Amino acid sequence: MFSKNIFSRYFTSVRQIAAFSILTAILAALLIGGITSLTLHSKRETGYDTLTEDVRKYLSTFFEDLQSTAASIQPLTLSDCHQVSAELTSRAAFNANVRAFILVRGGEAYCSSATGSMLMGMHQLVPDINTNENVDLDIMQGTPMMPGKPTIAAWFKNPVIEGQGIFATLNVNLTPYLLFTTRRSDMVSLAIIASDKALTTISNNVMNVSELPPHPTRVVSIPGYPIKIALYGKTWPTEDIQLSILTGLVFGILCGALCAYFLTVRVRSGKEILTGIKRDQFDVVYQPVVDAENLKMSGAEVLMRWNHPIAGSIPPDAFIAFAEAQQLIVPLTRHLFALIARDAKRLQHALPPGARLGVNLAPSHLHSPTFKEDILAFAASLPPNHFQLIFEITERDMVKENEASSLFTWMHEQGYEIAVDDFGTGHSALIYLERFKLDYLKIDRGFVNSIGLETVTSPVLDAVLTLARKLSMTTVAEGVETPEQAKWLIDQGVNYLQGYYFARPLTLEQLKVWEGQQKEYDELR
Ligand code: C2E
Ligand code: CA
Ligand code: CA
Repeated sequence: MFSKNIFSRYFTSVRQIAAFSILTAILAALLIGGITSLTLHSKRETGYDTLTEDVRKYLSTFFEDLQSTAASIQPLTLSDCHQVSAELTSRAAFNANVRAFILVRGGEAYCSSATGSMLMGMHQLVPDINTNENVDLDIMQGTPMMPGKPTIAAWFKNPVIEGQGIFATLNVNLTPYLLFTTRRSDMVSLAIIASDKALTTISNNVMNVSELPPHPTRVVSIPGYPIKIALYGKTWPTEDIQLSILTGLVFGILCGALCAYFLTVRVRSGKEILTGIKRDQFDVVYQPVVDAENLKMSGAEVLMRWNHPIAGSIPPDAFIAFAEAQQLIVPLTRHLFALIARDAKRLQHALPPGARLGVNLAPSHLHSPTFKEDILAFAASLPPNHFQLIFEITERDMVKENEASSLFTWMHEQGYEIAVDDFGTGHSALIYLERFKLDYLKIDRGFVNSIGLETVTSPVLDAVLTLARKLSMTTVAEGVETPEQAKWLIDQGVNYLQGYYFARPLTLEQLKVWEGQQKEYDELR
């Protein structure tokens, strides 16, 4: 039962298609939106890493170069200003990153590359520089020559003589990074921090560290120099989220629409069934029916199979209901007839003359205007006088069709027999059994299943068999799976048996083999 209608149940009604498509759309939107936001996020994080790393490298090289230049001019501090000022000026002029070199002796700045001789205590000139350190850095709002232009001030102590060293004011050119950051719409900003002051891309003035935004995205320091780089950027900026939502929405709508289109146009239109017929995806198998008296095969029931290329083997319960919903049961049954006719010549060798061939009819076919025509054509396509055709119809269908009575009379006149299929599962309308004069009663396998389960006898089954006898109908038990069930049914006077215990539905080749090696079933005698 669980597999019943897997195919039709989901896709037949517009509402179900809509629900399925909306679900697909939501899932696709979430998936694509999620992937987009993660991709953007990771791209952004990589961008931040690259940017901080670039600035770090730039400053590293910058300070290393500067330090080696400073080392090379340390000897100038041994001389007086007038002796070395020309050289000092040219060294500063040739170093693009340096505004001024200042020579320091005994803690006093005494010679500047920009202004020549001077005399000013270092603690007065740059109070925040600690001249006891080998290297110290500070950020200043400006220099006497360039008062409004912030600068980094660097101190390099003479390693040999106490109180002597080189002081430099620098041009730190953040322009390329500034360009890079302002181009980015998410407003990434950078800060170079020394002691408690910062040079930033936010402001043209020196800022206090306390004025900086509180949570930098990245902080890196430069080994050997008391300086840090901080990067400020958003990890989940609004525009990324908006872009992700938009992408998710577009893809979601697209997937949902595609899904709805596919289900409506391709599946719901019944194209699948027609394609299946055209591509020969349907097949028939035969399940032997055994005579309870001699335990020999008396005939077989034809069962259809669909080997769908994508869905695999689709059970008949599912595709019959599907075909009915699509109004394709007539072409499908005609195809079934054609498949049987295709087998008929070889089927003759597996089934003896007079063998009963049970064929299931779908209710809507019974009602179709071409019904009689189809049945006659089918009968004509079989070898003459070989098979006794039994059409199996469920009791539900008789309840529905008012014209059933005249149809049944016509079928009897043509020499076909009629079996009530799945007896006991529908809304049992016993009155129809009396009215219609039917030949066989197929007891549903649900009843047969219960044999040997709860009680030794089954009162309902008893009643059904009594009823069949009273109506002089022949009985067939379906779904016989164990010898106990078979034995019990035989003892109760059931006429025919069908079920896995005797044989599963078989292909034509398997049926021939099975027929050739029929067992004696001694355990039932
Ligand atoms: P049904 O007419 O009652 O067919 C008998 C079903 O019971 C078959 O299932 C058969 O394989 C299964 N069966 C037989 N013996 C046993 C057993 O011992 N144990 C169990 N558990 N099952 C057993 P199948 O082939 O899956 O067919 C299911 C239903 O689909 C059929 O029930 C019939 O109503 C419908 N069907 C099958 N072929 C056709 C067809 O060609 N045309 C129409 N209209 N309906 C068909
Ligand atoms: Ca049947
Ligand atoms: Ca049945």
